[in-house]
Amino acid sequence: MELNNKSLFREKCFVNGLWADSQKGNTIEVNNPATMQIIGKVPNFSAEETKSVIDNADKAFQSWKNTTAKERSIILKKWSDLIIENVDDLAKIMTIEQGKPLAEAKGEILMGASYIEFYAEEAKRVYGDIIPDPRPGKRIVIIKQPVGVVGAITPWNFPNSMITRKCAAALAVGCTTVVKPASQTPFSALAVAELAKVAGFPDGVFNIITGSAKEIGMELTKNPKVKKISFTGSTEVGKILMEQSASTVKKISMELGGHAPFIVFEDADIDEAVAGALQSKFRNSGQTCICTNRIFAHKTVYDTFLEKFTKEVKKIKVGNGLEEGIVSGPLIDKSSLEKVIDHVKDAVNVGAKIAVGGDVHPLGGNFYQPTVLSNVSTKAKITFEETFGPVAPVYKFSNDDEVIRMANDTHMDLPLFYSGKRKNLESC
Ligand code: NAP
Repeated sequence: MELNNKSLFREKCFVNGLWADSQKGNTIEVNNPATMQIIGKVPNFSAEETKSVIDNADKAFQSWKNTTAKERSIILKKWSDLIIENVDDLAKIMTIEQGKPLAEAKGEILMGASYIEFYAEEAKRVYGDIIPDPRPGKRIVIIKQPVGVVGAITPWNFPNSMITRKCAAALAVGCTTVVKPASQTPFSALAVAELAKVAGFPDGVFNIITGSAKEIGMELTKNPKVKKISFTGSTEVGKILMEQSASTVKKISMELGGHAPFIVFEDADIDEAVAGALQSKFRNSGQTCICTNRIFAHKTVYDTFLEKFTKEVKKIKVGNGLEEGIVSGPLIDKSSLEKVIDHVKDAVNVGAKIAVGGDVHPLGGNFYQPTVLSNVSTKAKITFEETFGPVAPVYKFSNDDEVIRMANDTHMDLPLFYSGKRKNLESC
């Protein structure tokens, strides 16, 4: 990997201000999903090693919590600036381990830096409240204080910004953090740790550990020194972490799976709707939690929308995200590819027609063709499950009540996209 700043590529965990291997020398290999080549290895930390990192983060908390908001803000701002300075290298690392096109990777990194900048500014504005007391002569004073060590577990689809968004908020208020990034994308996490070190966070304040999700996750959720868990990932894992966190009654924040509907009403500007659907469906090869997973088009515009949308999807250039002009990279791994294959086969078995795509990509590996399905039955798995891939099922609807019922027929609540002049749809 050719980088301007070679110190950004780290194959060790970042703990207590130092780069560390696992004591037993156990490692995990990391692949490039576009080429299947091994990029490098990272340590496979045990529960015991995780415990020791938490102990150090707890020690660091005792002094970090007493720093002023201004001191924390200065370090955070420096961290954000360093990320922006190193955007090209960070994007390259991300594309190589995650697969998204370089331009998308750069966009994510700048967004990640902006989260840090935002919290650097907010650090100085953590106000309290004074509330009238029902008893005479008294007032209730509320002050906000850092809770302690925060455990952050992050996904592979946004390997930079999910870390900066969680950690910058925690660090800004005086908490310390122990992060476990996804095993497919640890290098983006370790690169931002290098920049955190340069920015000047004291030892033990920001830590990144890699390894077995179950072992590390169990220690983070059961250890009483961890006061809060922040998780972004699948709904299944979120439920496990909630259960495990119950015994120590931790504070928890979860961002889980999505199944976003996209509605094209009869009065929509169809070209605008097509552009919106392309963006919200195919960004990151359909692997974002807010990705449109179901498109509903009114029966009077269904055929026009389908034709124009299919024409644009045919133009999507698939390939290695490092190459010029690539818009869609590979899926992250074999099991993701298998899920996409299964969803399309199942939809076709219950009546869907393939407007474009519908199969693995000739490039092989983890690549799948950008796909549009028409005539999709509401019995198809894709109607109920998050696909997390470049497949757009298009359903027909007749009236508002019907489409609002269809759009809401999910237990996963992420955004609603729509095109047309409806008012107050957000409240449906
Ligand atoms: P995932 O399988 O839930 O993994 C997410 C993280 O959890 C990874 O770091 C993973 O580690 C870890 N993990 C897995 N099993 C664990 C366990 N038993 N205990 C503790 N940690 C565990 O999800 P994913 O496949 O990476 O990400 C895709 C999902 O994330 C999708 O459902 C997507 O919608 C959701 N997502 C949501 C948002 C949002 O803002 N709502 C944003 C992005 C993604 P390993 O990698 O080591 O297994």
